[in-house]
Amino acid sequence: MKPEQAYAFLREHSLETAHLGSALALLYWDQRTMIPREAHPHRAEQTARLTSLVHRRRTDPARGEALAALDGAALVRDPLAVEAVNVREWRRAFDRDTRIPERLAVELARTCAEAETAWESARPANDWEGFRPHLERVLALRREQAECLGYEVEPYDALLEEYEPGERAADIEPVFAALRERIVALLDRLRGSSAWRAPLPGATHAGSEGSPIARRFPVPAQRAFSRRVIEYLGFSFASGRLDESAHPFSTSIGPRDARITTRYDERHFNAAFFGSVHETGHSLYELGLAPEHWGTPVGEAVSLGIHESQSRLWENMVARSRGFWSFFHADAQLAFEALRDVDLDEMHFAVNEVQPSLIRVEADEVTYNLHIMLRFELELALLRGDLTVADLPGAWNERMRAYLDVEPATHADGVLQDVHWSAGLVGYFPTYALGNVYAAQLFAAAARDLAPGEPDGLEGLFARGEFQALLDWLRDKVHRHGMRHLPRDLVREATGTERSADFLADYLDAKFGALYGA
Ligand code: ZN
Repeated sequence: MKPEQAYAFLREHSLETAHLGSALALLYWDQRTMIPREAHPHRAEQTARLTSLVHRRRTDPARGEALAALDGAALVRDPLAVEAVNVREWRRAFDRDTRIPERLAVELARTCAEAETAWESARPANDWEGFRPHLERVLALRREQAECLGYEVEPYDALLEEYEPGERAADIEPVFAALRERIVALLDRLRGSSAWRAPLPGATHAGSEGSPIARRFPVPAQRAFSRRVIEYLGFSFASGRLDESAHPFSTSIGPRDARITTRYDERHFNAAFFGSVHETGHSLYELGLAPEHWGTPVGEAVSLGIHESQSRLWENMVARSRGFWSFFHADAQLAFEALRDVDLDEMHFAVNEVQPSLIRVEADEVTYNLHIMLRFELELALLRGDLTVADLPGAWNERMRAYLDVEPATHADGVLQDVHWSAGLVGYFPTYALGNVYAAQLFAAAARDLAPGEPDGLEGLFARGEFQALLDWLRDKVHRHGMRHLPRDLVREATGTERSADFLADYLDAKFGALYGA
């Protein structure tokens, strides 16, 4: 086979698989939002059959032959050319997929499905002992998988590679350690401020009791306000939808079809509003990928960490900024009776209030990263054999005390709170905090480029309702590149600086120091 023929074959193969994948994504979206209850068994069968079709295509030996025909070909000599990037990523995925024996792939899928079902009933029942053997099986199989995949330093790296290509645990540890030190110091300063409100014992989220955001927010008004804001930020309802689901998510069906969901709570403003903006950030990334490369790696998102950098940037650095609220404050007061007597300062403080609490997904911007580090350290210890599953709840509670000074009274609010480990997602958590690190680094570079010499950076633009320049910058520096660069290289190219936790730590210090007068 000539290299040109091999490339054409692989491209067509990739596109066909991507179309199957996008049909699966649409089935998944429907299953979480619209499906009638009794349709679930057929949907499960439909999904299983399509998934196995996709898996067979991914391990098709014909792909291996075509990839071999491209080894050292002139077509792939320039490493940043579209062809070279696609071939590099097809090769990486093919090698990973074919290194896992079919027996292990099937056993993993079955064990994770059982563990997730067990978790769904174990969490509300607070039944750690019932869930423990499932987690032990999941971890044993993931360790076996890591051995099949291969690694240079340690098994964890083989799993991390799936979510954050090019990263190793040993690269991430010092970044998180530096960040943890700065955040713990910041928390100490905030605790000493007169604005500090200690969380109530057992508080599951920040900004509870007595905060204006814990008043009554009728769902229709929340729905209308969220839609207006995300459209203003650049989400187009001509190429996307906002619906409701029990667990919010975003998915991309095709180049002009981004779907996001949220969940409304009448008694808490933050969850649905910032959740919608968060998922909008994910969607803007998907919509900013090069449509002409859809279905091939150069037209795909590069990693979970970069994806999360986009969602967290819009959620926190934009929608929790003072500039944003000075522009939208009057609008919010019109939309919600509950905010009529809440001035701009109070609103800005309320949506940013820091209160160490038990549940990661409800955490404030400062403590969120500590929730992630705790999970990263524990899963790393499990994989390294330094911690047994039996000792996991104790280790969890001990770290919650050390980092956040709170301790869960139940496993449901502790070690059982996240679905990830039950679903086999080990190596996934660090991408959340990496997302925050990248978001701050990108945001600082955008401010330098778009608002040079302005003491308030991009806040001045936001206060005038100008968000388009930031979106254009992200499209140019991040979105349109797809998988051209590995995540860390992409951020270096976009910002001109090496990855560092300092950008996030500096941003948090400045923002929360001002909010708390600390
Ligand atoms: Zn996200």
